[in-house]
Amino acid sequence: MGAGRFAPTPSGDLHLGNLRTALLAYNAARSTGRSFRMRVEDLDQQRCSAEVAERQLVDLAALGIEWEGETLWQSQRHAAYQAAVDQLAAQGLVYECYCSRREILEAPRAPHSPPGSYPGTCRDLTEGQRAAKRAQLAASDNFRQPALRLRAQVSEWTVWEECAVDGARPGHPQPYTGVVDDVVLRRGDGVWAYNLAVVVDDAAQGVDQVVRGVDLLSSAPRQAYLAHLLGVEPVIYRHVPLMQDAHGERLAKRAGGGGMTLRTEMARGKSVDEVREWLLSTMK
Ligand code: GLU
Repeated sequence: MGAGRFAPTPSGDLHLGNLRTALLAYNAARSTGRSFRMRVEDLDQQRCSAEVAERQLVDLAALGIEWEGETLWQSQRHAAYQAAVDQLAAQGLVYECYCSRREILEAPRAPHSPPGSYPGTCRDLTEGQRAAKRAQLAASDNFRQPALRLRAQVSEWTVWEECAVDGARPGHPQPYTGVVDDVVLRRGDGVWAYNLAVVVDDAAQGVDQVVRGVDLLSSAPRQAYLAHLLGVEPVIYRHVPLMQDAHGERLAKRAGGGGMTLRTEMARGKSVDEVREWLLSTMK
């Protein structure tokens, strides 16, 4: 049997919305006979800290979430990501990209290209052009290496989504089709891209059920396509609604989730059980 997982980014304490998603992921795994895995998504060492990660794990455990096996820390997984990129490169599916964020935003693009997708500027450069761009980057004031991008062979991909009909309630899996573009595999600052790491790590942890916030739904086709290229079995998705505050604003949009964490609620006199019961009651 497969596994579900929770994969927080340790850039701050988990807010109540994160905790609710964690409970949903845990319950989904348990109620379908799966085991549960934990992963710390600390790829970006500028934004993440081990101390914050430990606090997150303590909060998750306090809520009664239990996981099997060792917690996987993405900051320790360099070799696995490199191997995946090598595997893609061997198929001719990786190219260097020299564009800055601004150049990507300002690049001319086809009339119907999806907003935010990469316009393909560096996809078909000649070796001579690449050498010139590399030299230009190396000589620039804010030195960065070229990013690595996937040479996608499709423009969309279909995944199976269990919350497609009623966001809050899982039902029969429905197909969800979304955009695939030349996603970044390794950023210009050398940090491995989330879309790559998530696929490599879900496979390494035996994950076949992904429950997470609906804000990541549009990333799922890109990730599933990458999984396909890497020869990994597709996972089944449940993208769940994000928690909103009393004014209908997404918690995640506000600094630190509006400051509402397990610790702040406990400081206000609530017990862990009360917080858990309340989070579960908001899912009905
Ligand atoms: N680390 C991501 C986050 O905290 C979640 C990634 C995922 O569940 O695929 O938003």
